[in-house]
Amino acid sequence: MEGHRAYRGLRVPDDAPFELKPSPGRGWGVFATRRIGPGATILKEEPLFVIRKPTPLIREQDIKQAVLQLPAGKRQQFLLLRDNASGTFASMQDAFAENSFDLASPDESGRVTRLPAQGLLLLLSRFNYSCVPNAKIPSFTGDALVAAIVAIRDIAAGEEITFCYSFDMQFRTRRERHEALRFVCECRGCLPGNLFRELSDARRRLYRGLTYLVNGRDALARGRQGPVSSIITDPQFVYHILIDFLREEEGLLDDLDEPRPRGLSRAVYLLAGAFQTVDNVAIAAQAMAQDTWWKRLDLVLKLYGRADAADGTVAEAMRM
Ligand SMILES: [Zn+2]
Repeated sequence: MEGHRAYRGLRVPDDAPFELKPSPGRGWGVFATRRIGPGATILKEEPLFVIRKPTPLIREQDIKQAVLQLPAGKRQQFLLLRDNASGTFASMQDAFAENSFDLASPDESGRVTRLPAQGLLLLLSRFNYSCVPNAKIPSFTGDALVAAIVAIRDIAAGEEITFCYSFDMQFRTRRERHEALRFVCECRGCLPGNLFRELSDARRRLYRGLTYLVNGRDALARGRQGPVSSIITDPQFVYHILIDFLREEEGLLDDLDEPRPRGLSRAVYLLAGAFQTVDNVAIAAQAMAQDTWWKRLDLVLKLYGRADAADGTVAEAMRM
């Protein structure tokens, strides 16, 4: 199905640098009609209506009431909303959830608060998601209860304009992002067959780990639950790998010094040493067989922290 026609009726501001049209595989999307520079506001939009409640407390009745109070033309626009497969929503609540955003609202003295205010935004909701977006939705636009989307890099005419739903997506690997999303993203960080994607997981694992070291808090840890990835609880391991990486790149890693088991290259030996268990020589060898350091790092970060037979011995040794 080519996508429903409802959004043809949506009013786009005359000076808008974009158009709405079907986006292959994901309903409708928003495409630049001219070059948009970084920092440029692409759209400022006032909500069709606002529900002043925290999201989990919003009920079907709240939406119905708000929709009934709308002038007929605006009510019609709400009723024309469709899901990504161009189907009608099962409930008004579903339609609202898929087309609303958290809005900043000021208190009596004009200070911005985070009082709950969910606004239904017809145009802003047409922008699709990307893990590697070219635009973002700022948390405050300067105007109360007005949302906006701003370019974060140069966007070429014809390019689809995308944003990332939540900041913590930055710290997730491709698999972790897809567990959180309810669809398959096809951005360059997700589509197979390109170098960007191959190295993306390693970059994001390292980014999450280093952010943990800087902030003392795991970006993805919830509530009382501790850090979930062992890579971020063991900075020594990351340092080890980076040191060897730097030495090899700088030509300082020779294959001569230090006695080591026969048949092991110096690099494999050092990497296995970082794991601290003999069993991990196999992992180190597998990693070092990769042709770039990023790929080695990616493999090591994937495997590090998995339980293996040597773990008990190491834990025992560390207690002594
Ligand atoms: Zn993606």
